[in-house]
Amino acid sequence: MSQPLTKKTTDHSDENSFAFSFFCDRCGKEWISQPVSFQAEKQTIIEHTGIKERLWADEHRTAFAEANLEAHFHFNNCPQCGWVCDDCFTEDNGKQGGLCKDCSTGRDHPHKE
Ligand SMILES: [Zn+2]
Ligand SMILES: [Zn+2]
Repeated sequence: MSQPLTKKTTDHSDENSFAFSFFCDRCGKEWISQPVSFQAEKQTIIEHTGIKERLWADEHRTAFAEANLEAHFHFNNCPQCGWVCDDCFTEDNGKQGGLCKDCSTGRDHPHKE
């Protein structure tokens, strides 16, 4: 399994298709990947359960990797917290490519040294 992008993910996959949820690290907002069908099931009649399970596991792993990649487009990286949704992200600091709203608020009001 690839390392999940967000801290929390849910696997909705069943024997026919693969889909995964990713949750904003800050507010928990959910993004669900587009379901992908289990291809090997359609192509041939697989009588051997062991083979079918292995094919499923292969496709499941690939589907997760692709959903995980796509999640990069739905979440924004806060260097300090992780991956957050658009609602939780602010790009007003161009230099670092943005921060989550918690971190940007913290920086706007720094403790006096
Ligand atoms: Zn969020
Ligand atoms: Zn942050």
